[in-house]
Amino acid sequence: MRMQFLGAAREVTGSCTLLHANGHKILVDCGMEQGKDIYENSDLPCMPGDIDCVLLTHAHIDHSGKLPLLAAGGFKGPIYTSIPTAKLCGIMLKDSAHIQEVETSWKSRKAMRAGKEASAPLYTMEDAMAAIELLKPLPYHEAVEVLDGVSVKLRDAGHLLGSASIEVIVNEGGNVTKVLFSGDLGNRNRPLIRDPEMPNEAVDYVVIESTYGTREHGPRADYAGQLAQLIQTTFDKGGNVVIPAFAVGRTQEMLYVIREIKEKGLVTGHDNFPVWVDSPLAIEATNIYSQDMLSYCDEETAALIRAGVNPIRFPGLEIALTSDQSKAINEDRTPKIILSASGMCEAGRIRHHLKHNLWRPESTILFVGYQAVGTLGRAVLDGATSVKLFGEEISIRANIVKMEGISGHADRPILLDWLSALPEKPKKVFVNHGEESSCEEFAETVWKELGYGAEAPYNGALYDLVTNTRLADGNRAKLADLAPAEAKKQSSASAVFDRLVLAGKKLMAVIERNRGSSNKDLGKFADQVNALAGKWDK
Ligand SMILES: [Zn+2]
Repeated sequence: MRMQFLGAAREVTGSCTLLHANGHKILVDCGMEQGKDIYENSDLPCMPGDIDCVLLTHAHIDHSGKLPLLAAGGFKGPIYTSIPTAKLCGIMLKDSAHIQEVETSWKSRKAMRAGKEASAPLYTMEDAMAAIELLKPLPYHEAVEVLDGVSVKLRDAGHLLGSASIEVIVNEGGNVTKVLFSGDLGNRNRPLIRDPEMPNEAVDYVVIESTYGTREHGPRADYAGQLAQLIQTTFDKGGNVVIPAFAVGRTQEMLYVIREIKEKGLVTGHDNFPVWVDSPLAIEATNIYSQDMLSYCDEETAALIRAGVNPIRFPGLEIALTSDQSKAINEDRTPKIILSASGMCEAGRIRHHLKHNLWRPESTILFVGYQAVGTLGRAVLDGATSVKLFGEEISIRANIVKMEGISGHADRPILLDWLSALPEKPKKVFVNHGEESSCEEFAETVWKELGYGAEAPYNGALYDLVTNTRLADGNRAKLADLAPAEAKKQSSASAVFDRLVLAGKKLMAVIERNRGSSNKDLGKFADQVNALAGKWDK
């Protein structure tokens, strides 16, 4: 049994790990890289069609976003995940395809006006639909045999509705190896969802995230009180509170807190203030939350629902479905809250709201989630004095605030609690899904505080889990260390190049399937492939 790290090693996004188990190939997550690329993700060392199944920890795009590309390359599924994740993925992958199609057509028009060639989207809506068809929901807490000799068990990771830690139990001729993937682990006492569930069975190996592996969130602040105060001072100045938020999860949490603020009357002088949700995806996700809540929410939320209160709806809540409605939000000068995606300001309608509010000293931009290195959100948070939006230089004069209170990720003490809940020492803990310093430091903490062997693998690192040995170190070259032109070429072109490589692999698969066809057909096929190769061999 072997395990290979393909993404989110010493980085936060692009989660993807390959297991070779009892003759099967299993991918755990298939995420998209977001923000600045520090290390190149490793290519899939096989054809997508050779993957037997995917195990998906949760719906966030940095864990699920490349599933459509996998499907386009010939992967036929299934993709096992929890029931809410399957529903959320149904909307998120379509949204991801939509964003790419829109951005590509925008970039293409711009490129063509400049006399350059048009670009193609990483994947299309059709590819997203093909991946969604492959989703197979599983319940929490039940060991389910997904392949011969391979069972999986999901537990609530408390990070997002439906998020899961996944235990993979592999039986290779009587030798049983258990690997536990933490997935993204949640913080405690968050609105709506449950706390992360502690592991209660011994396992051989653990793969654990470390987004906040070196941080402590500190005592839980009075989140509603703090937010109310911020809203009050901003509204009193006549400004807006703009909150970039992940459409799924964070937006619903903020709605929960704002309902509480309104109910308790914590903001005065601005009766029935408007709260705009300006993200079609957030609106769809809010509907899913409303349907699924009772079976998956925490006790407090369940009590509200039983008392007939919808925990994420209130008077003054407005939704912008069309782009005209979205534009009208900034024309009306009534102080308001604007919740929009994407959470790290890399795409979506939030960029319009930033354009209209970043320059206004009376407005507040409130960050409530993690901002990866290289994203627009991180630049604003790190004190940039101006940013470029839609080709325009926008000066930053708004009040920039970060509230840590309800971070979506476990901090160091929670991660350590979670690991120390294991009834027996694992053979090794692999630390991934964190910035490099976080992965390294947290691996050291695990060793020093718990006495578990731990390391932070690189992308491409390959391990034999039977003998507990590292077979390959992976790629240690940072993109920043490459010559600038080379790095730029790799980071911007690699996504589309990936698509071409997959298309090539698909062609090889079609060639294999044609083995045994008539000589006439084979000859014709060969001529066509040769003609195509000749055309592109520059
Ligand atoms: Zn996540």
